[in-house]
Amino acid sequence: MQKRTTYALTVNPRIPERLVRLEELANNLWYSWDRATRALFSRLDARLWEAVEHNPKAFLKRVDESLLIAAAEDPTFLSNYNSVLSAFDSYHSEPARHQAIPGIGARDQIAYFCFEFGFHESLPVYSGGLGILAGDHCKAASDVCLPFVAVGLLYRQGYFFQTIDGQGNQQATHTDWDFDDLPVIPVLQEDGTEVRVSVNFPGRAVAIKVWRAQIGHVPLYLLDTDIPENSQRDRLITYQLYGGDPAMRIEQELILGVGGVEALKAMNIKPTVWHSNEGHAAFMMLARARDLVREGLDFPSALEAVAVKTVFTTHTAVPAGHDHFPEAMMQQYFESFYHELGITRETFMALGCTADNHDFNMTALAIRMSRMHNGVSKIHCGVSAQICRDFWPQIEPEENPIDYITNGVHIPTFLAQEWVDLFDRQLSPEWRNKLCDGEFWASIKKIPDHVFWSIRQTLKSQMFYGIRARLTEQNIRNHGSDAHLDRLLKFADPINPNVLTLGFARRFATYKRATLLFENLDWLREILLDPERPVLLIFAGKAHPADLPGQELIRRVSEVAAMPEFVGRILLVEGYDLRLARRLVAGVDVWLNSPIYPLEASGTSGMKAGINGSLNLSILDGWWGEGFDGTNGWGIKPVAQDVDPKMRDAEESRSFYEILQDQVITLYYDRGKSGYSTGWVKKAKHSMISLLPRYGARRMVDEYIQKFYIRASEQGLRYENDGYAVAKEVADWKTKVLSAWGGVNIRRLDSPSQQLSFGEPIHFKVAVQLNGLQPEDVFVELLISRQYNQTRLDRFKHFRFECTGKLGAEEHQFELTHAPVLCGRQQYYLRVYPCHPMLVHSLEMGLMLWV
Ligand SMILES: *Cc1c(COP(=O)(O)O)cnc(C)c1O
Repeated sequence: MQKRTTYALTVNPRIPERLVRLEELANNLWYSWDRATRALFSRLDARLWEAVEHNPKAFLKRVDESLLIAAAEDPTFLSNYNSVLSAFDSYHSEPARHQAIPGIGARDQIAYFCFEFGFHESLPVYSGGLGILAGDHCKAASDVCLPFVAVGLLYRQGYFFQTIDGQGNQQATHTDWDFDDLPVIPVLQEDGTEVRVSVNFPGRAVAIKVWRAQIGHVPLYLLDTDIPENSQRDRLITYQLYGGDPAMRIEQELILGVGGVEALKAMNIKPTVWHSNEGHAAFMMLARARDLVREGLDFPSALEAVAVKTVFTTHTAVPAGHDHFPEAMMQQYFESFYHELGITRETFMALGCTADNHDFNMTALAIRMSRMHNGVSKIHCGVSAQICRDFWPQIEPEENPIDYITNGVHIPTFLAQEWVDLFDRQLSPEWRNKLCDGEFWASIKKIPDHVFWSIRQTLKSQMFYGIRARLTEQNIRNHGSDAHLDRLLKFADPINPNVLTLGFARRFATYKRATLLFENLDWLREILLDPERPVLLIFAGKAHPADLPGQELIRRVSEVAAMPEFVGRILLVEGYDLRLARRLVAGVDVWLNSPIYPLEASGTSGMKAGINGSLNLSILDGWWGEGFDGTNGWGIKPVAQDVDPKMRDAEESRSFYEILQDQVITLYYDRGKSGYSTGWVKKAKHSMISLLPRYGARRMVDEYIQKFYIRASEQGLRYENDGYAVAKEVADWKTKVLSAWGGVNIRRLDSPSQQLSFGEPIHFKVAVQLNGLQPEDVFVELLISRQYNQTRLDRFKHFRFECTGKLGAEEHQFELTHAPVLCGRQQYYLRVYPCHPMLVHSLEMGLMLWV
């Protein structure tokens, strides 16, 4: 072909005056949970709406002007438009934000940093669970009018789009997004120019442009290095999410952490609480410490002042999953930085050190520079406490300061429209304000069974429509015949959605064991192929492009799905994203999860399924370990952790088969005269009633506020008053304690009696060698508990000793009189640990001695 030049031309429709606020709607991710707003756009031009992947901003740039003009004259459209706007306005005019939450004051501002954010498919800066959780956190913060800003990166390509070829190979395709099409706008200064900040890299400064996305009340600031001021290489830093080599990763984390702090300063935002969601953003703590050192604090005081206001949430259940960088790389990027902190290389590197690896570990940094740390489920809390035990070397993991807040999902986003409409009609529109009210949700019982069942069927139908479209596209691309397509879609029939449908969709990471149900294919055949009671199994999910074992799992699913007897009964749907997720979690009858215990930190997709009336069948790990109540789904107790992995998989898959055959399938197909299973409806209702109030993001954000944000803000203020007097005092005190602790000793002076009558007190007396510390620098404690048998104890009760004077030159005497309040065999311990009234957690120093 002859060489020819391509010219580009953009024609912008002019939005009629009457509809001008469509632009405002398109620029606020409120639409990511307000379906009426999305429906408004789709009504204008449904095909275009599909073509732009449900992106209102891209839509408005492309919609035919004639359609807009017609809509501006169409009474029905105008009435929809006005009702959307009035809902929008009433949401955004809620009470002055600081008045909304007791304990949160006018000066408060929470800054939430995360590597990825998932709100909606139209802002592709997320890969999976972590990002969607962060998105849900922002949405719930907006719902409660929390003074909250979020900080992340604006990736030119975001994460990849997945297709799967005929052999089951995952193909990753990338799109360079035009930011004008995304719901983001550049942040401007007062003089109308764009905000720019910069971060020093070895031998250069990297400039950052700041964008803003609006999530209801909450602004999200997204940092972007793809600007002309930067070298070609540096422009690529914010190119891909989870792409690139370790150098690229450390650069991204510098942009997010250090650049994020600079950006907030440039916009005159002064957070009182800083939350690092995962360790990727932990450099933010160093940047803040550097600012304090510049104000004249020494580093230890700056560290205390920073840490007291900092919340760190860990989401990873394996040490290898925590980000870490080689020391040489840290040296390269931070050499001038640690000079600016006024500390030596050794002190600096020690901030990121762990016992088992020489690398600089981001979790280690985050733990050392925060005072509030949490895992994301009860089980994960225990796992994290074990992983992090070395940070508090003398403290038993059960007692160390790692807490937990179980994840939640944003209900307005993930609850299907059919439920929304039904709740509005049958419960009351008030349900939106009762999200955490267990009693309120009990009224789901009142929904007539046939109505409940028919909503479930409708949602399944809609899901079938959705996946048929995707499978059709997939089949054409992979050169499948029409006849094959018919077979493929035989059971996913929207007209007859009566087949029991199981769903498994999530990241294809090996620990999630997507192929566990293939352990025994004969058994699986028996289950899926029953002519009377057929079962459909749907898979979806991406594997990271560098995760070859994960991609192998996709191949295996594809291979089994292609076995002649399974065609149409096992479906593998490509391109898992928020849109497909919303459909699947609402549409399937049973949501499966089969992680290797205890590696599923929380998991959230099962919550999304649960609130929509799907039943969970899952290993008791992550959130399900606490969400399962015995009857709201099915739980599989993991086998002991020391069992050989092959045995474990065999045992656990057997439980899946048995529960499916004996309970799930039997119950689902127990159709009465009415044509549906009343037992199933009962179980599904109970599941919704038990999960809706407990696994919403609202409950989660409330917990963050109550457990952490209020305290961090108050303690932060105490530490910084009077020129950071308390921060300095605590830092000095810790230095003193650390140097003295090696010489501290405790011994018992009284002779313990082993038999006692009830009411009779024991007089405890110990001598503590304080090695220069003062008696008020330590707590001496009795821990006592009743013992039922060899293994079972009550919770320990704690009683504090008092110092009753000196004992010679070296020791102090501490005494306690205690009459046990319970009868029977008791167990007790005596211990001493350093304590200061200004600590956030009484054991935060990690030091303790037992008698
Ligand atoms: C909810 C969600 C996830 C997280 O699922 P897990 O159960 O935590 O694995 C991942 N991807 C998408 C698109 C989701 O909506």
